[in-house]
Amino acid sequence: MIVPFVDLKSQYHSIKQEIDKAIQDVLENTSFIGGPIVREFEQSFSGYLGVQHCVSCANGTDAIEIVLQSLDIGVGDEVIVPAMSWISTAEAVNTVGATPVFADVLPEKFTIDPVKIRSKITDRTKAIIPVHLYGKAAEMSEIMAVANEFDLKVIEDCAQAHGAEFRGQKISTFGDAATFSFYPGKNLGAYGDAGCIVSNNGDLAEKCRMIANHGQLSKHNHQMTGRNSRLDTLQAAILQVKLKYIDEWTAQRIEKAKYYNECLRELNITLPVMDDSKHVFHLYVINIEDRDEVKTELQKRGVATQIHYPNALPLLPPYIANENIADYPIAIALAQNGLSLPLFPELKKSKIEYVAEQLLSFEKK
Ligand SMILES: *Cc1c(COP(=O)(O)O)cnc(C)c1O
Repeated sequence: MIVPFVDLKSQYHSIKQEIDKAIQDVLENTSFIGGPIVREFEQSFSGYLGVQHCVSCANGTDAIEIVLQSLDIGVGDEVIVPAMSWISTAEAVNTVGATPVFADVLPEKFTIDPVKIRSKITDRTKAIIPVHLYGKAAEMSEIMAVANEFDLKVIEDCAQAHGAEFRGQKISTFGDAATFSFYPGKNLGAYGDAGCIVSNNGDLAEKCRMIANHGQLSKHNHQMTGRNSRLDTLQAAILQVKLKYIDEWTAQRIEKAKYYNECLRELNITLPVMDDSKHVFHLYVINIEDRDEVKTELQKRGVATQIHYPNALPLLPPYIANENIADYPIAIALAQNGLSLPLFPELKKSKIEYVAEQLLSFEKK
């Protein structure tokens, strides 16, 4: 049996008519940048989240940089980020001239540890960027408490967690601003690069919109120096169609993740935690000894897996020189033992059973 890691094609085919029509309409209107379709998507997405403002941009990495810039965070400032994430979370901090300061993640939940955040605060700290890693909400009430105590900004990196909730409240609504990626493989994915910033702070959103569009709100009225980071109209049209299905797709992800948990229950490994927060399972990550051998063995049996991520961020070449490895035991163990199994809304239960059977057979050997 072949089990692919993701299958973007079957999702496209399930909504092909609508998508093709949306694309065709953009082509006929030849409005490729900006225009009403981009604004409509921004309104739909902020409505979906229950936030007041959505500013679209070119990708999820730009989104973080733009928020940092809009908060005047730059040279000499420190921003606390989790030791385990996709590199963008830390890299965006470097791009604006500030320094990412890493905090280890929580055991089993793998989101940033609020106690470790405290231990990393200095008088240069300006902000915290919690990441809702794999689709699981970070510990937002404790994080907001630390942020309020030390007067720090909070930027939620929601790239992996469209629609996730922390104790009944949608993520992206806790901090000063939140960022999303619509990279094709994300839970809400465009057919190319795309991203956005959301916020309930109108002034902040307006500044982000200016920065993303050459420092102007109207044409040739450059109030500041900005950049070019726009959402293509084609991508907005595609996202507008796909947004209608996100809750359905998320429900399917959750159902499949629960089925994995059930099928893998007997294994002596760490399975994803399902607690009182809504995990949207961008990734289904198990922690297993001899991970690399297990990965190779699964590959031989037709099962594609991936690693998110093979290195804790502080151990990467751009950062390692200034880091103390002993600070990040949880992130480092996750880099060693974490294995992402195939999970996508269209994944058949029979394939989950097959993956589980393979894993169980290794255990018995
Ligand atoms: C994907 C991702 C990003 C970056 O998004 P891009 O659209 O690829 O730039 C940022 N943070 C996290 C946690 C991500 O998973």
